[in-house]
Amino acid sequence: MEDCIFCKIIRREVPSNIVYEDEEIIAFKDIQPAAPIHILVIPKKHIPSLVQLEKEDEILIGKIYTIINKIAEEQGVLDKGYRVIVNCGQDGGQEVGHLHFHLLAGKRLGEKIV
Ligand code: AMP
Ligand code: ZN
Repeated sequence: MEDCIFCKIIRREVPSNIVYEDEEIIAFKDIQPAAPIHILVIPKKHIPSLVQLEKEDEILIGKIYTIINKIAEEQGVLDKGYRVIVNCGQDGGQEVGHLHFHLLAGKRLGEKIV
């Protein structure tokens, strides 16, 4: 069993505000929102970061993007748009070692790097 904050959220050992869940994926509100809508979409499988992705994860990662779009629709932001960010490793600024996709929306997002 992984001693990981997001695995603990999946196991309901740490409280969170869950907005989506199925057998493979869970999404919950970020505890320190950087935008009016800031949701973390994660695989239930403990993948530490994009670096550890395996061939067998390809379908799962594709599904995550479909779920992100579904959540964006439920949140009513499909027309205005949204941003998805994955921080990877030290230079990428990753703080939690369980792969997660930040879904940000609800305002005109600033500080575009690319
Ligand atoms: P990153 O810097 O890409 O690793 O992002 C980690 C994110 O996890 C940050 O935006 C944190 O605010 C968020 N976070 C950390 N702990 C929790 C928690 N217990 N519940 C919800 N979000 C969390
Ligand atoms: Zn984990």
